[in-house]
Amino acid sequence: MGFDVLTSYDTWDLTQPILLPRSHLYQLEPIGIGTPLVESLTSFIARLAEVHCVPPRILISKIITPFLEQIFVKRCTNRGLRSLFDRARALNGTGRMARDFVEALEKLTVRDDLRFLTLLNWSDILVPRGLLRERKAWCPACYKQWRTSGRVVYEPLLWSIDAVTVCLSHHQPLCNHCPHCQQQLPLLTWRTRPGYCSICGEWLGITSNWDFSKGKIPSADESGWHSWVANTIGELIAVAPYLSLPLTQIKVTKALCAAIEIVTQGNIAAFAALLKMPKNTVWGWQAGKVLPPLDALVKISHCLGISLVDFLTQEVDIIKTSKKLLLPSPGQQKKIRASPRSFDSTQVQQALSSILAESQQPPPTLKEVAESLGYNRRLLYRHFPDLCYAIAAKSRQYLHTRRLEAVAHCCEEVRQATLKLHSQGEYPTEARVSLLISKPGYFRYKQVRSALLEARRELGERQSKMLE
Ligand SMILES: [Zn+2]
Ligand SMILES: [Zn+2]
Repeated sequence: MGFDVLTSYDTWDLTQPILLPRSHLYQLEPIGIGTPLVESLTSFIARLAEVHCVPPRILISKIITPFLEQIFVKRCTNRGLRSLFDRARALNGTGRMARDFVEALEKLTVRDDLRFLTLLNWSDILVPRGLLRERKAWCPACYKQWRTSGRVVYEPLLWSIDAVTVCLSHHQPLCNHCPHCQQQLPLLTWRTRPGYCSICGEWLGITSNWDFSKGKIPSADESGWHSWVANTIGELIAVAPYLSLPLTQIKVTKALCAAIEIVTQGNIAAFAALLKMPKNTVWGWQAGKVLPPLDALVKISHCLGISLVDFLTQEVDIIKTSKKLLLPSPGQQKKIRASPRSFDSTQVQQALSSILAESQQPPPTLKEVAESLGYNRRLLYRHFPDLCYAIAAKSRQYLHTRRLEAVAHCCEEVRQATLKLHSQGEYPTEARVSLLISKPGYFRYKQVRSALLEARRELGERQSKMLE
């Protein structure tokens, strides 16, 4: 009969397909992680609500709240939410509210990088008092630029920091009143939308009939200082994802003691006078009883002529080599003003412009430019803040790229060293690998540590394959 012809069919593959974990919410990409203009958590929440076509009120009360450890919203009424909105700045901060929301949102969006939208990385060294502003501040020029170039309109974390008063890109004072209804705006409300006033609903960016005469125009000196502050705090925010170890209070106290030693030869009273702070306050910092607030940390690093990141992360020996006092004491200020050299404004401006236009590699630092022109760096900043910042930014960008390349090179060295140690029958400990690479100090970068773990994993896999 017909049984002699057996048809053979393909076998079924019954193994389970690998399914990635599903996210409850859309996996919205935060803006600018690892840059000074990284988005704030409050902005991320507002955008997350927008992409789900619900107001932030619904997103928080119905979706996020069930995932929180602590109870921040007792009742899902307008009143219940108001108490949360009143404390919204804490969402971008260093405390348990930021931590709880970050963890809940990471579960909901299946992301692992949302802590960088807050100051959580600095929770051991930043005192919360006076750290974050209660009301919104924004740069209307940035809003306009983003909208006209079709980019996402959002709120950088930097704008929520109280010590930051100017825009990093435009060096203009940040706005804190809506130009249409003249109100100050809460950070988060039931209908917040980045770029728009939550009270009158109008656009907050520059419009064609913008009144530029409004707002205080800072002097060149003030503007130089405010831009420096924004830059140095921006850098602190930018490096957060790259640090492998959290900073501790002890580290800050040590750096502070080194600063007092360098700037005023250990004289606390003189140091306090320089910072315009009560002597007892500075004594408390130096004794490790309390931490200096962010604005004081900024002033101290400025005194040393180094960035805030260098002040907080470098070893004390390195801080001690930076014997540059930028912040002039009253006595010094006179010296600078008494400079007999005449200042040819047009000539200096032309020189700065042409230096900026040059494609020399590496681009000169502002310090080198100031030395080559024979003028004090502060004097140049005072007269041409924009040109000076552009020159400094160009050189910083170059150094940043070089540093990334150096880190990548170091990762490869780590891999080779790990394989070599293994082939010699030795376990690749960090200490043994450090001896074989050209820059052992680079183990402070997270990527380099990951490279070591990755290489060890590779070896483990090879070994288990051999055993199979
Ligand atoms: Zn701006
Ligand atoms: Zn308004």
